[in-house]
Amino acid sequence: MHSFNRLWQTLLDCFLPQVCCLCQVQTEFGICEHCIGQLPIIPEEIYLGDGLKVATLTPYLGNTLAIIQALKYHKIRRVGERLGTWISSHIAPDILNEVDIIIPVPLHSKRFREREFNQSELLFRACANNFKIPIVPAVNRVKNTQALHELNARQRQRELSNSFIIDDDFKPKIQGKRVMIVDDICTSGATFLEIATILRPSVAEIRCFAFSHTPKTT
Ligand SMILES: [Zn+2]
Repeated sequence: MHSFNRLWQTLLDCFLPQVCCLCQVQTEFGICEHCIGQLPIIPEEIYLGDGLKVATLTPYLGNTLAIIQALKYHKIRRVGERLGTWISSHIAPDILNEVDIIIPVPLHSKRFREREFNQSELLFRACANNFKIPIVPAVNRVKNTQALHELNARQRQRELSNSFIIDDDFKPKIQGKRVMIVDDICTSGATFLEIATILRPSVAEIRCFAFSHTPKTT
């Protein structure tokens, strides 16, 4: 079923007109230059406590929300690739100059099989290539958590506890490194905190970055 889906997607990509996920004009990138140029750049830092903060680029509203949904729920991989180059050109180079490795927030294997890519990894692949920083998938998600945005802060924390482990194969690659944990959206920051907790004994420094953040009022 998995390979059939992949084949079907490839056929669709070949034969269906490739259009912008927002305005439907023809484009091979999944999102047109006009629409991506309209994304608001409003960097924000979200303080999580425990010496951690998450840097983000744009609020999770309007077109940003529609783009992420096209990427995650309609599985339009090209949108993620184009968005990745947008992130790479708008992220402050100072942030990446002090990072040795990028660790994407992982999906549970079941969700990965359904989606066929990890959107967090896809969104930061251009940063990794342009700034020559390896992406190291050092963390595994061992618990298939329910949708966190439906939970309050305490429920999120409970749902996420013991959700992540460091992959034994990657332990030597993260030892003493300055790492940046990356995700598509930061809501409460609970996921970043949980992953930071398991990485902290092994790594030298932890930064967190999300493409988008849910506005404080929601
Ligand atoms: Zn467009």
